[in-house]
Amino acid sequence: MNASALDLLQSVFGYPSFRGQQQAVVEHLSEGGDALVLMPTGGGKSLCYQIPALLRQGTGIVVSPLIALMQDQVDALREAGVAAAYLNSSLGGEEQREVERQLLTGELNLLYVAPERLLTQRFLGQLERTEVALFAIDEAHCVSQWGHDFRPEYRELAILHQRFPQVPRIALTATADPRTREEIVERLSLHNARQFVSSFDRPNIGYRVGLRHNAKRQLSEFLQGHQGESGIVYCLSRRKVDDTAEWLAEAGVEALPYHAGLDAPTRAKNQKRFLREDGVVMVATVAFGMGIDKPDVRFVAHLDLPRSIEGYYQETGRAGRDSLPAEAWMIYGLSDVVTMSQMIAQSESADERKRVERQKLESLLAYAEATGCRRELLLGTFGEIYPGPCGHCDNCIAPPKTWDATVPAQKALSAVYRSGQRFGSGHVIDILRGEETERVLGLHHHRLSTFGIGAEMDEKQWRSVFRQLLAAGLLEADAEGFGTLRLTAASRAVLSGNQPVKLREDARPERGSRPRRDS
Ligand code: ADP
Ligand code: ZN
Repeated sequence: MNASALDLLQSVFGYPSFRGQQQAVVEHLSEGGDALVLMPTGGGKSLCYQIPALLRQGTGIVVSPLIALMQDQVDALREAGVAAAYLNSSLGGEEQREVERQLLTGELNLLYVAPERLLTQRFLGQLERTEVALFAIDEAHCVSQWGHDFRPEYRELAILHQRFPQVPRIALTATADPRTREEIVERLSLHNARQFVSSFDRPNIGYRVGLRHNAKRQLSEFLQGHQGESGIVYCLSRRKVDDTAEWLAEAGVEALPYHAGLDAPTRAKNQKRFLREDGVVMVATVAFGMGIDKPDVRFVAHLDLPRSIEGYYQETGRAGRDSLPAEAWMIYGLSDVVTMSQMIAQSESADERKRVERQKLESLLAYAEATGCRRELLLGTFGEIYPGPCGHCDNCIAPPKTWDATVPAQKALSAVYRSGQRFGSGHVIDILRGEETERVLGLHHHRLSTFGIGAEMDEKQWRSVFRQLLAAGLLEADAEGFGTLRLTAASRAVLSGNQPVKLREDARPERGSRPRRDS
């Protein structure tokens, strides 16, 4: 069986050898075992089920949430001479019946289906009348309701195990945090599946995170180092995507926008240009990227905090798939932290979910504010111990200075407390700095004992302190009002002097840009 798996790899797919854990997965699945495969994007998950589907009797059924991706995969497979097809809402009635006929006559090696289609009684009935080689559940993290790609239908896929207990199943994902992994096992009844966990390290990506003070200028400076290269710039909102793409285009960069608010033909056109042409910069919301397999993306830039550290890893993971040096660059600010903190507080979710969301935000902020090796921290969140430091993230290249900010932190926390935990950082900073603004005077906050106790630091330094206190979970932004700050359970130890606070010394402009090879 080994030899024939390798034969197929070479003769059908044209690759000389398996990568990483591919061979082990292929063997396990071919022999009828269930598998859970955690492999980073670009790691080569598809072959893990495509080859076993060819080795085993019957049709391999692949569940995929992405219509565009199905078409690409099927086209590529057909080109390689594999009998592949897909069933989704993009097909007409006639075409669907033809695919169903092929399935029932056993002509297909691989059939890609959307989850909602797979789950219909009609389709499940058809599967019972044919031979199924295996079930592959791609993007398996879609079962996780904590994730951002949650698909309710994915939760019903456990039915496959009940109706086809003898058919091996393989679930694949690039989202590897332990919580999601557990949820996949639980929701898809994969308790007996063997887990294949690949390293998520992307050694060719250099990670850099900075504070945003002038996004345009910072981005243009960053892009200077990437002229004529392909890359992706992620923004949080559609509007920011449009604005950014526009001014970049005006500045002579081949920039194109991509977000869900654009009509489908425009999106398809922009995506095609990004994939086919050299040096296109895609300015996009997170709507862009899933399933994009472009090897020579040289950078991924984030102008806002991503939604989560998993999201960040996936998005940055689109850079450097060709193993050549690439950069993951991000800038963010206090407003991002406040917005995200507020979004969580305001959401209608259950408390448990809010807690998870808050933890996710905290681990993202811990990454952003990190003073140690970023790669070590990033991989640590995926449960991987990286023998760092890596030597080429920003913190490794230029270790950030920290300072003992216990006293300023105490001042900040007590100013929040004394003013009633009803104000945002702007007003609290005015109090600390002893600014007699209309609002301060109107609220009699110039009579507070904390008024003016922080005059030794300027506004920018204070903003940095507040951002880092939020990041450290020593403050939280309230749901109501505009970024209203309150103390947390952890604040007390700082106020009572039992916990020192060390903060990054970053009130000054962003440190060191990428080392230039020339000059
Ligand atoms: P994933 O689904 O994990 O993101 P893919 O299955 O799309 O990754 O594979 C990513 C790229 O790597 C594809 O271009 C694929 O053809 C290539 N690839 C996969 N396995 C091998 C291999 N053993 N040797 C060479 N290239 C491979
Ligand atoms: Zn490092």
